[in-house]
Amino acid sequence: MKREKPGINTVCTHVGELQDKQYKGAISPLYMSSSYAYENVDVKRYPRYFNTPNQEGLCKKIAALELCEAALIFGSGMAAISHTLLAFLQKGDHLVLPKNLYGGTYNFVVEEFKKFGIEYSFAGGYKAADISEVIRANTKVLYIETPSNPLMEITDLEMVANIAREHGLITVIDNTFASPINQNPKLFGIDIMIHSATKYMGGHSDICAGAVAASEEKIKQIWNLAKNLGGSLSDYTVWLLERSIKTMAIRVKAQNRNAKKMAKWLDAHHLVQKVYYPGLKSHPDHEIAKRQMRGYTGMLSFELDPSIDINNFMDSLQLIKPSMSLAGIESTILSPIKTSHALLSENERKRQGIEDGLLRFSIGIEEKDDLVADIEQAFEKVTKKQLQNT
Ligand SMILES: *Cc1c(COP(=O)(O)O)cnc(C)c1O
Repeated sequence: MKREKPGINTVCTHVGELQDKQYKGAISPLYMSSSYAYENVDVKRYPRYFNTPNQEGLCKKIAALELCEAALIFGSGMAAISHTLLAFLQKGDHLVLPKNLYGGTYNFVVEEFKKFGIEYSFAGGYKAADISEVIRANTKVLYIETPSNPLMEITDLEMVANIAREHGLITVIDNTFASPINQNPKLFGIDIMIHSATKYMGGHSDICAGAVAASEEKIKQIWNLAKNLGGSLSDYTVWLLERSIKTMAIRVKAQNRNAKKMAKWLDAHHLVQKVYYPGLKSHPDHEIAKRQMRGYTGMLSFELDPSIDINNFMDSLQLIKPSMSLAGIESTILSPIKTSHALLSENERKRQGIEDGLLRFSIGIEEKDDLVADIEQAFEKVTKKQLQNT
């Protein structure tokens, strides 16, 4: 039987792998050389040129995962984001950003753009009118994040691509939360896909890296800047990331399944006020999510009943650990108002819809029943303690 293209697990496992011609080892050899014999004027291998064998191999894999011609990898997700934005924006240009934005990206734009003379606006919401409203004559880039952090709001990718086409804008998505397993924005006309590879691509909470996938032409433009800024990823981390991605589809699908079950369970719990998960039929954007996502991710957020003390609850969890990061194979939880969104004013938090009792839950690959048991025992402990105090 002839197959048109390999399946996702085959892509994860094999695309871009390097051959060990000397010993015929099973995996990609790790080339740590920072110096290579001069081949010709066009091929000068050097880590800061982003073209060592391991970097090139991994870029092929990431490009294939995002259905793109090319990719580049960086030392962090923020490096991928900052390089991409600075590669396409210059003095006098304008950038459109979503209302709720990853904190690091928000800080980068708000703290750094002034000195470059780049203007920006935040869209008031996720619908076409909210975005069109803030586009100006000098707008160059339309940047989105879907699902958003931490409320899992969904932006319609096709709608964004249409608006961009109408105004001649470059579209950039932070596709970290979805991962290429659950969402390929390219299919809907988005130009540039960015990942914090620290999250689902790495998946084991032991790598910090970033990636960008796009057309050859767009990647070349980012590369032109990247070679000057000089922030390439060490080949050892590149090699570890290649290994991690081999199991990404298996991990992410298991996390999708767990998250869907946990979302339903939490939704039915009397001590949970609200669950934000695009896989729930009750999610306002469920239909859009269904159209553009293959899975609904391992991320969800939920609001505790106001009677539950959030600190007590988090302290009482045993299996689920508090953590700033997300998307590892271990389940973690975070209170946005105490961490990622702590620096925002109360007004700004309210504007973004982030309540005091909100928890962001990154679901791992543990058995769902163990996660349920952990949350149940935490609720029991907290309610007992609160009864004693009254
Ligand atoms: C973590 C994260 C980033 C930043 O990635 P780093 O690897 O920490 O630099 C960007 N966007 C999203 C959605 C993230 O979760």
